[in-house]
Amino acid sequence: MNSFQYAAIIVAGGTGTRMGGNIPKQFLLLDGVPIIVHTLKRFLNFEANLKIALVLHTSCKEEWNDIAANYLTEAENNRIWVCEGGKERTDSVWNGLICLAENFGNGCLPIIVGIHDAVRPFLSQRMLRECFQTAEQRQAVIPALPVKFSLRKRMNENTSEPINRMEYLEVQTPQVFDFQLLFEAYKNRKADNYTDDAGLFQAETNFAVYDVKGDYNNIKITTPEDLFVAERILENWKES
Ligand code: C5P
Repeated sequence: MNSFQYAAIIVAGGTGTRMGGNIPKQFLLLDGVPIIVHTLKRFLNFEANLKIALVLHTSCKEEWNDIAANYLTEAENNRIWVCEGGKERTDSVWNGLICLAENFGNGCLPIIVGIHDAVRPFLSQRMLRECFQTAEQRQAVIPALPVKFSLRKRMNENTSEPINRMEYLEVQTPQVFDFQLLFEAYKNRKADNYTDDAGLFQAETNFAVYDVKGDYNNIKITTPEDLFVAERILENWKES
């Protein structure tokens, strides 16, 4: 067991309107199992000591209770604390940080915390290990990848100009931090519109953000096309 107490915040506080339909995207089935369960199991199996704050939209409580009863063991459920999502993703992460602080109790806070989107079920154990272990030495670690496609900058409604993709990175989750520093950064935040935690952390603390190799399979399931790709990735995982 690791001497650094690990924790994770899995954010599922959005309603997932881009997917269409009434079921939030994190509850859609992938190989007969809700996406959110695939994601939780990756973390539960990564480190026996790791505890999870699961941030859910208020309308999803009942649905979650059914899922927890049907797909997770009692021991697994005991490692998951559920809290409510907020208006923006930033608010949801903040609720998750408070939930961890309250449940761990004073004097026994997690040392390293990873924030992860519930709709990214394909994070590998290699990536989790690299992110969390690197965070033991650095304050902030993100998985990132070179951009594969060409990039252009919008100039006005119908024109754009090329930009050098070598200067950019595609950023994924889990984004992993020193718990205390991230907690303080969120507590003192001056804006709520950051698209990820590394953006907020860097803006509020001035610490550098360190990157490790991401994984092209670690897709974010956002639209119906992504679900099709997700099924192929899962088939491939099962075969290998
Ligand atoms: O909306 P987007 O696709 O960027 O959401 C990324 C993740 O953040 C999703 O897992 C979503 O459920 C979560 N989220 C949240 N609270 C919000 C908005 C999004 O937890 N208010």
